[in-house]
Amino acid sequence: MMRIGHGYDVHRLVPGRKLFLGGVEIPSPLGLLGHSDADAALHAVMDAILGALGRGDIGTLFPDSDPKYRDIDSKVLLSKVFQAMVIAGYRIGNLDITIIAEAPRLSPYIGQMRAVIAHLLACEEHAVNVKATTEEGLGFTGHREGIACHAVVLLAD
Ligand code: MG
Repeated sequence: MMRIGHGYDVHRLVPGRKLFLGGVEIPSPLGLLGHSDADAALHAVMDAILGALGRGDIGTLFPDSDPKYRDIDSKVLLSKVFQAMVIAGYRIGNLDITIIAEAPRLSPYIGQMRAVIAHLLACEEHAVNVKATTEEGLGFTGHREGIACHAVVLLAD
């Protein structure tokens, strides 16, 4: 049995916040605003896995009205989603992530993101693909107002 899921997330870029993407801290004058550490890539991954499991979304699992999730490391949240996936009897088949950001340049951090995510999801690094793209200066990502991320996952039993 295989299950497919898609996740999408956006966070606003603001001064005075650290930038976390794919579980990696990236030097940047702007960081993502959110209740947690606002790692849009890990949030998209969690929503993809929860989608594949038919278990709703991270907003239901980890409500931003709950103070215990304030500034929480999204790696901790992904570990909880991973546990739910394992209990449901699934493992990662493969995972494909697209981060849409005008800046900073993410290519130096892609390898580290793959390693961190593969470790958290107990799979091989080649099962985790991370791509970064810009939107050619167009729209909110192009205007550096925010960063968007898509993730597609295939779960196998
Ligand atoms: Mg989010």
